[in-house]
Amino acid sequence: MSVILKVEHLAKSFGGVKAVSDVSFEVRAGELKALIGPNGAGKSTCFNMLMGQLKPSSGRVSLDGQDITGHSPRDVWRRGVGRTFQITGTYQSMTVAENVQMALISHHRKIYAFLPRAHLMYRDEALALLALVGMEDQANRACAILAYGDLKRLELAIALAHEPRLLLMDEPTAGMAPRERIALMQLTADIVAERGISVLFTEHDMDVVFAHSHHIMVLNRGELIADGTAAQVRANARVQEVYLGG
Ligand code: ADP
Ligand code: MG
Repeated sequence: MSVILKVEHLAKSFGGVKAVSDVSFEVRAGELKALIGPNGAGKSTCFNMLMGQLKPSSGRVSLDGQDITGHSPRDVWRRGVGRTFQITGTYQSMTVAENVQMALISHHRKIYAFLPRAHLMYRDEALALLALVGMEDQANRACAILAYGDLKRLELAIALAHEPRLLLMDEPTAGMAPRERIALMQLTADIVAERGISVLFTEHDMDVVFAHSHHIMVLNRGELIADGTAAQVRANARVQEVYLGG
């Protein structure tokens, strides 16, 4: 499989504190890859550098072989790197389907977004995306009354409306019950398989990760200490030592 994202010797310091040091890895086409590690390991700092929100102290990020280090979030987004956003207050009054329709309108850069009946466009496409995340039966509900887990699945549908080739999800299962976490990861794995996109996500709960990821990376105190399959990572002595507590 071809390499989509290549990260080389990425590092970030805040004052004298090294949040991320010398991290190198690749994400390939059609891959579901996890970045795990305890709180404060540097996962979000890594993600923010990949998304253009934080400038690296050193190192390089390439997308399809092109250097995108330090590019703006907007540019990274335009190149097909999607991310999940939390649904903001503005859209709470709209229905589930309307939220996805607005994302589709925005993706197709239609100026009709400002017309009063814009939310009627892309209805069928929105319903197809909702079916993909298992929410077709909730299309006409107001977002404001959704359960937390459903809101997370809606956020996934909205991210997919932008047709990303690589989707970055920073702790997508945060705040969810264990069973919901597993279900969301199962769903994400199915979408990766069906759409052929790549997903890189962070998580601090190892159990959620091992079931569905193709590859797992472990970050500890800013350093990447493992990168491999679930079996390889489980067997890694350093991972057992610093992450599993022996
Ligand atoms: P994780 O997402 O793995 O929990 P973070 O990337 O959020 O870890 O944090 C890694 C380290 O960098 C922590 O020690 C954190 O306190 C520090 N850090 C993160 N962001 C900032 C910032 N903007 N300013 C100073 N320190 C930061
Ligand atoms: Mg974090």
